[in-house]
Amino acid sequence: MQLVLLGAPGAGKGTQGELLEKEFSLPRIASGDLIRQAVKQGTRLGEQARAYVAQGELVPDELVTELVKERLAAPDTEAGFILDGFPRTLTQAQSLAEYLAAQNRGAVTALFLALDEEVLLHRLTGRRFCPRCGTSFHLTGRPPKREGICDACGGQLEQRPDDTETVIRNRLRVYRQETEPVLDFYADKGLLQRVDGSGDPEAIFSRIQAVLGEKRL
Ligand SMILES: [Zn+2]
Repeated sequence: MQLVLLGAPGAGKGTQGELLEKEFSLPRIASGDLIRQAVKQGTRLGEQARAYVAQGELVPDELVTELVKERLAAPDTEAGFILDGFPRTLTQAQSLAEYLAAQNRGAVTALFLALDEEVLLHRLTGRRFCPRCGTSFHLTGRPPKREGICDACGGQLEQRPDDTETVIRNRLRVYRQETEPVLDFYADKGLLQRVDGSGDPEAIFSRIQAVLGEKRL
């Protein structure tokens, strides 16, 4: 089973990817992790990526694609894989399809975790963390026992600058612009499965299992 997880920031791709990884014993390949590992290990591609990461810039399409292809060449992906964070753009989706076709590996199933933008905004702007011990909270999802105070160490909770409404609206807008063509690409090929991304992780995972179960019949 070759899966691609699609969804906006905050839609729960990471959590669902982990659940899928456990359920199906397939490697979960997160493009962000690949980049970090390659940079850390100082591989040829990692060295190229380092310059962008160091300057806080996005690693270019082609370089991320090369990293993913290199990872997909490893034998543990023969039975399948779960891609998280890739493809982000139409070019990446096309490159992935060409790569798999050239190897007779068949098409992917693209799972799109669909969630209303206001819900995403609420999820992301509600995040708080404790700078002293690193514990994460959420104003509604996982509220601290005392407002603004860390349960674990009593530290003052803060919001990351990345989690403010302006920054998040901008991230969601960029995401939409980049990813809508990717959704269309998979939809045109009949490979897109839309999954309702609302509710708790277990509920979402049940919907994913239902979708994947139907496909295999
Ligand atoms: Zn703390």
